[in-house]
Amino acid sequence: MSIRIPYGRQDICQRDIDTVIDILRSDWLTQGPFIEKFETTIAGFCGAKHAVAVSSGTAALHIACAAMGLKKGGRLWTSPNTFVASSNCGLYCGAEVDFVDIDPRTYNMSHEALEEKLRAAKKSGRLPDIVVPVHFAGQSCLMDRIKQMSVEYGFKVLEDAAHAIGGRYKDSFTGSCKYSEAVVFSFHPVKLITTGEGGMILTNDTAVYEKLLRFRTIGITRDSRHFKGPSHGPWYYEQLELGYHYRITDIQAALGISQFERLPEFVERRRFLAARYNKLLASLPVTLPWQHPDTCSPFHLYVIRLKLDKIRKTHRAVFEQLRSDGIGVNLHYIPVYKQPVYKQLGFNDHCCPEAEKYYSEAITIPLYYGLSEKDQDCVVGSLRHALLDE
Ligand SMILES: *Cc1c(COP(=O)(O)O)cnc(C)c1O
Repeated sequence: MSIRIPYGRQDICQRDIDTVIDILRSDWLTQGPFIEKFETTIAGFCGAKHAVAVSSGTAALHIACAAMGLKKGGRLWTSPNTFVASSNCGLYCGAEVDFVDIDPRTYNMSHEALEEKLRAAKKSGRLPDIVVPVHFAGQSCLMDRIKQMSVEYGFKVLEDAAHAIGGRYKDSFTGSCKYSEAVVFSFHPVKLITTGEGGMILTNDTAVYEKLLRFRTIGITRDSRHFKGPSHGPWYYEQLELGYHYRITDIQAALGISQFERLPEFVERRRFLAARYNKLLASLPVTLPWQHPDTCSPFHLYVIRLKLDKIRKTHRAVFEQLRSDGIGVNLHYIPVYKQPVYKQLGFNDHCCPEAEKYYSEAITIPLYYGLSEKDQDCVVGSLRHALLDE
């Protein structure tokens, strides 16, 4: 059977469509006025000084690492419970990557495990240059603890907030850069707001910001203040370093602005549906998403864990049964170190025990703005059937 209810999907309204059509009729398809407008809108909302919009969340992570000075021989640590982009960014820069096990309640990087690993790394002189906390499913990591450790052990913090735009930690919005050098968002269609493909880096550090602008545009500058030699004339530009072509288009940026206007509505609906799942699933043999009181998640994902000792089916059988009912369940995530690219680097297949245990029990069930309560009831019915029937 085909998938009738996906695990996530975008919501495009008539205004989004009209906005894109207007841009198609304008003078600028790329590098027009909407990119900067998109950047200042998001930076203003998050309370960050600077923002740079790019072609994807992956590109954002890559040039954030580069702008923060990560190089060959450097070290980057992140969570294994994430999309591969969170650690690939380290590999792109020629750095060594390592993983910090997850917290069994939030499924974010555990700060206890981080502290323990930092203590050991200090002794062996192998401290990380950058740590990438991932705000899994939208719930912020405990950023004050991570910030404290960054001061004590001398690393920089890059937040992977691909799931977390519109979320909060204590009194600030995710993206404020209050606890980190930079924060990255993704605007892939499955994320909270979309530009088709797209990403953004926020930072309060002006030097990092200027590097990001150059890395986004091949390393080229037209600003004479940065030239190494004399200008040859009005056509002159210089390539100062080997940058990338990671620009976003004006079409996408305009769509992003239009989508962003509905972010509060999107978050409110997702939180409503998550609370509704919590009630409807309370009596089933599953662990519901636990939320730390200092966080307010926009619920990019709704993940349950099966209590396998209380049911007579395997994790895989439950997953397959839901899929055969047309429910587009998913699994976020296969621990990154299990991927062939990482195994080749020498990672042990079971190096993070909490991430392993989580991986053997987790299922992402459908949650998105346009999910109707009737369809949500179908998901619950199908899950109940899969869990309780022989
Ligand atoms: C989606 C995602 C990314 C990458 O974003 P793209 O825009 O798809 O490149 C990075 N990290 C996490 C945790 C993600 O979910």
